[in-house]
Amino acid sequence: MQLNQIIRADILAMTAYKVTEVPADCIKLDAMESPYEYADDLKAELAKELTNTPLRLYPTPYARGLPDAIRALHKIDAGADILLGTGSDELIRLLTMLTGQAGSTMLALEPSFVMYRVNAEFFGMKYVGVPLNDDFTMNVEAVLAAIAEHQPQLIFIAYPNNPTGVPFSVDDVNRIIAAAPGLVVIDEAYGAFSSHTFLSQAGSIENVVVLRTLSKIGFAGIRVGYAVGHPSVMHELRKITPPYNMNQLSLTAAKFALQYHQFIDEHINKQKSERERMRTMLKAWSQIHVFPSEGNFITMRVPDAQALHQALLDANILIKNLHGVHPLLDQCVRITVGKPEQNQQVLGVMQKLYGTKA
Ligand code: PMP
Repeated sequence: MQLNQIIRADILAMTAYKVTEVPADCIKLDAMESPYEYADDLKAELAKELTNTPLRLYPTPYARGLPDAIRALHKIDAGADILLGTGSDELIRLLTMLTGQAGSTMLALEPSFVMYRVNAEFFGMKYVGVPLNDDFTMNVEAVLAAIAEHQPQLIFIAYPNNPTGVPFSVDDVNRIIAAAPGLVVIDEAYGAFSSHTFLSQAGSIENVVVLRTLSKIGFAGIRVGYAVGHPSVMHELRKITPPYNMNQLSLTAAKFALQYHQFIDEHINKQKSERERMRTMLKAWSQIHVFPSEGNFITMRVPDAQALHQALLDANILIKNLHGVHPLLDQCVRITVGKPEQNQQVLGVMQKLYGTKA
């Protein structure tokens, strides 16, 4: 079989999203997973629920009440519709598929979550990436000019942004929503750690869709995300959603997790206060620039990103080296906020590299 005769040339030319395989004892601070495990008694309770989950049958159409639990959790307006996805990744793919065809355009900010651009390529869309300012804030005038010029069918805004952590001005995002001729997807993957959400606009403004995920709040392994939007848009999205796209074990685990949301909240609050403690400690090194963050991670510019990445790796700690990912990310690294003792280990390695702080 000649692969180059049967597979799309653009796919043959692509490289796959790289997921790093790490030893089990590694302190993994590269992918914004929660550092906290569920307590043993909750795990035992969940195991019981999973044992009683029928695997013989297709998942229940109403996902065992999960959308209702999500609605109650965020106090989502009755006018908004909720669609579940296998991670927000699946929803990003479906939203792109909804609008993507030759001649249509996606607009996003650069740097941001790479899968927006990759999905635009999958569906033959033109991709317009508007660069952020040097401090990773949004150049809203440039975005509005690009909207006027390219009339994009689809805009992705990660709020707060990954890989920078910086949230954008709420007013700027609202100006974009008002100016956009098409859908504006606010990707709130890190929304649990942020001080603002656009969820109340999903449902009341037709072109707004908000994405959320359980991945960053303790449940990356079950792959559950959700889209909240206006019924007219969600109706179309349902048409292209694969039948039974969610697996029953994940639905059971997600429903269980939301029932015990107070534990999730405790972990979120711990990570938020650790984020601020870490940022204060890191800022004391004059050779490091620490960017503001409303996510569960900290992005900073260091003298030599590769050297820090390697020094931490030598201490069995994995972080993300962003150098080379985008010109604006020159010598930047991104560190997920871990448990206090893990963060101390990071600071200890940095102390060896950068010396004791003044
Ligand atoms: N959106 C953003 C901004 C992300 O950073 C990520 C994960 N890196 C995702 C979406 C995908 O998350 P999920 O695990 O829900 O697919």
